Amino acid sequence: MSKPIYVTQPYLPPLEEFIPYLEKIWANKILTNGGPFHQQLEKALCEYLGVEHIALFTNGTIALVTALQALRITGEVITTPYSFVATSHSLLWNGIKPVFVDIDPNTLNLDPAKIEAAITPQTTAIMPVHCYGHPCDVEAIQKIADNYNLKVIYDAAHAFGVQDAGGSILRHGDLSVLSFHATKVFNTFEGGAIICPDAKTKVHIDQLKNFGHVGETNVVAPGINGKMSEFNAALGLLQLKYIDQALTRRKEIDAAYRERLKGVKGIHCLNDAGEKVANYAYFPILVGADYPISRDDLYQRLKDNGIHPRRYFYPLISEFPMYRGLPSAHRENLPAATAAAQQVLCLPIYPDLDMSVVNEITRFIAAQ
Ligand SMILES: *Cc1c(COP(=O)(O)O)cnc(C)c1O
Repeated sequence: MSKPIYVTQPYLPPLEEFIPYLEKIWANKILTNGGPFHQQLEKALCEYLGVEHIALFTNGTIALVTALQALRITGEVITTPYSFVATSHSLLWNGIKPVFVDIDPNTLNLDPAKIEAAITPQTTAIMPVHCYGHPCDVEAIQKIADNYNLKVIYDAAHAFGVQDAGGSILRHGDLSVLSFHATKVFNTFEGGAIICPDAKTKVHIDQLKNFGHVGETNVVAPGINGKMSEFNAALGLLQLKYIDQALTRRKEIDAAYRERLKGVKGIHCLNDAGEKVANYAYFPILVGADYPISRDDLYQRLKDNGIHPRRYFYPLISEFPMYRGLPSAHRENLPAATAAAQQVLCLPIYPDLDMSVVNEITRFIAAQ
């Protein structure tokens, strides 16, 4: 490889198309606090995603923290160790104790069959992740939540645009949280959002992301500054014009990887989780014991050849120092997550990735 190939490359629209947006910001001098581009992006995203109410944020992590605050979640929350660390960090920021539950080895999402055993009198909510954009078993999770009177907050950072048979996957649970970080399918450089079920909840969340301000002189909660700026909102509006094109290209790359890795012994491509519309956000493979070399050796050899895959998600969140002392963090409690973390490798996938590079990567994997 002449140029290093990373697991993702942020998608950027043509620069000249962004200039008119900047000119508007410079002309009207509204930079943030729910300006015109912010309002337009909320409307455009509701239409694109097929949801009713959305509150934009400065990033996905602050949106997760605020979602928990908005629902007044306390005590213990059941969550997955197989995710980006922000999922659990949002609990710690709210003084909540994470309780890790194992994943389903087929989808790598929180295993509903394991949730009930982890519920205690302190449990107030479940925070699952639609890992790699593959939907959780939303019905089974909701059933448990209803039985035990728990809230459900989905970390949907990977799930932009994903749909099940009934529509947007983001309509499930009490709240769903998106990330628009540079590495995600849809980006505003930094950004995020909470999908709200009704207008009243959105108003409350909009207050919390603006220091808890209600009107000019009243503050009703210890809110944070989580507002998205006009610059980021304008970027989002422009990105939205190209999102379908980007998703089509991701789908082609996903199909090419599957086709070319089909016969490679020891390499297992993760299937979708039955979604009707997928977003091909990641391309995870599992490197099995019957592959000639270990996952880490394959990772290193690819890197030595200019290909930089990522071991998402290794280590598990439950292995980090601020979590590993929790009783639920023990490896014996998390066998499927532990196995997945040792086998997974996410291969490069992004709209500008050349098919010739995909061919080279798959040839390299087949030749070990
Ligand atoms: C990216 C990501 C986040 C955090 O989003 P930011 O916008 O980077 O703060 C949270 N959870 C998961 C699963 C993510 O992948």
